[in-house]
Amino acid sequence: MIQLLPDYIANQIAAGEVVQRPASVVKELLENAIDAGATSITVVVSDAGSTLIQITDNGCGMSPSDARMAFERHATSKIQHIDDLQSLHTFGFRGEALASIAAVAEVTLLTRRADDEVGTQVHLMAGEPAQQTPAAAHTGTSISVKNLFYNVPARRKFLKSETVELKHIVNEFSRVALCRPEVEMKLYDKNNELYHLAPSTLRQRIVNLMGKNLNQQLIDVQVETSMVNICGFIGKPESARRNSGNQFFFVNRRYFRSPYLQKAIISAYDKLLVRSPDTFPTYFIYFEIPPANIDVNIHPAKTEIKFADESVIFQILNAAVRETLSKFAVAPSIDFNAEGAPEFPVVRKNAPMPAAPKIDIDPHFNPFEEERKTGTAYHKGKPVDSNWEKLYEGLEAPAIAPSSCVPATVSLSFIQVKGKYLLTPVKSGVMLIDIRRARQRIYYEEYIHRLANHQHASQQQVFPESVELRPEDYLLLEPVFDELRLLGYDMAPLGNHTIAINGLPPDLAGIDVQEWIQALLEELHYTAAQLKEHRQTTLAVSLAKTAAGYAAETLKPEEAQALIDRLFACETPSICPAGKPVMHIIPLEELDKKLFKN
Ligand code: ADP
Ligand code: MG
Repeated sequence: MIQLLPDYIANQIAAGEVVQRPASVVKELLENAIDAGATSITVVVSDAGSTLIQITDNGCGMSPSDARMAFERHATSKIQHIDDLQSLHTFGFRGEALASIAAVAEVTLLTRRADDEVGTQVHLMAGEPAQQTPAAAHTGTSISVKNLFYNVPARRKFLKSETVELKHIVNEFSRVALCRPEVEMKLYDKNNELYHLAPSTLRQRIVNLMGKNLNQQLIDVQVETSMVNICGFIGKPESARRNSGNQFFFVNRRYFRSPYLQKAIISAYDKLLVRSPDTFPTYFIYFEIPPANIDVNIHPAKTEIKFADESVIFQILNAAVRETLSKFAVAPSIDFNAEGAPEFPVVRKNAPMPAAPKIDIDPHFNPFEEERKTGTAYHKGKPVDSNWEKLYEGLEAPAIAPSSCVPATVSLSFIQVKGKYLLTPVKSGVMLIDIRRARQRIYYEEYIHRLANHQHASQQQVFPESVELRPEDYLLLEPVFDELRLLGYDMAPLGNHTIAINGLPPDLAGIDVQEWIQALLEELHYTAAQLKEHRQTTLAVSLAKTAAGYAAETLKPEEAQALIDRLFACETPSICPAGKPVMHIIPLEELDKKLFKN
């Protein structure tokens, strides 16, 4: 009853494991080119790879006999002993890719080693070398794969539209490009140049691939521990998107996917992403780990990788991202605790543990105030000054000598710039605060807090104003009357889509109510879809944004002081609800070197 399958069927079945679509071929051939030491690789596809995929490299090339051998199943030059798997530094090691590709397409290989006078050309049909001839060739290898799945109609049928297949090809191209920025890489769709990536730094490579706009958004991540090194970039909170796409993990310069480790990153962003459940931060994270501690051997086409100590890696990654964000965010709200437990669960290289980071600050120092007023807590009963000290954490600014020209530590005042910014000297330089964003953050947190605790806000009585609304506006407001009242916006229905506005929060004293309500409605319409899903956060963001837009432009000194106190009582003072920075510190060094060129 049992029969051995003929080779060509067995090969086609095996090929299915490796080659699912044109993009799989691109991936395998790119990886081979890299493994061959290429410094320049060109990919040309036609019809999204279904009629032609050609990859040319300037790598080591092959001898005539290797050029034939390469297409045998399990033929590889990359491992010889089982132990070699423990120290793998190449992409490939199974010796299956070329055999699989040749089983389901027409393949021609042209290759020459640097020391050979002529090259060799091998033409394969149905996986078998049909012809081999000496041929003129550049050093390196060029493989062309034509009419993929010509002999597997079922597979061909499963291919998606050209747009989708090309997108897969670009994804594979990008994943390789992102782990080898030093290699020149080109991608053509017929004659159209899609990418021409010059050898560059990692940051430049990311920007060349993903777009210039990202450059401003990337923050360096770097941590070295005894068990893993992590480097790369994460995006500022504002670069987060509602879809995934800019999320990349690499381990030992190989792309992998990990929903588990992704959680370590998302949770580090925590409150920095207001709508975090469906918002993905940008990241390009590179792990470096002894090859023996990972297992890449799971499945040829799968991108999952097993780590020996995944939960420790999780913690290190989480801590690294938190630390990075806290540095960027200037005044971190993230619990980056100077005195508490060591941040990293594993010893950092060259740094004995666990000396708590010493930060040279005076926790009672407030640059806005000569004598601390006490008891000006606005928020959640937390002492207002608690977050001030964090202003200095993570900045690692050089200590400024008292004789320095900026007497930062005796700063008493701030300057208001155009009703938009507050400017003040701080210990490490000059701090600028965006007033409107500061207000957005303050209101947002206060609203969220009240909604969660059913805590009534104080109200400013206005001379009751009635506003006649369009029916669709009324329908938007009606379901949130209760929440609005809780937040100090006292509105009552008067019938016929008309409402009375009886009270508003004190911050909105004196505003034009009619104008303000229109702005709020516009904001609510804009976010109507989210309002359904995430009612409280969306409402809080919309109200905060509108209120901040209408609050008084110029601040009296005591108002500015109060604003600053409230801001630093926030959990996340450094970022507005939309994820943009509320404040910037220009370090003295930068003033000296960049601005004044001292
Ligand atoms: P693997 O990469 O797992 O070794 P492949 O089937 O992808 O298996 O390739 C088989 C062998 O062919 C490789 O081990 C390598 O020796 C050789 N080879 C493949 N592509 C190239 C290339 N672009 N340049 C030089 N040698 C190559
Ligand atoms: Mg390979």
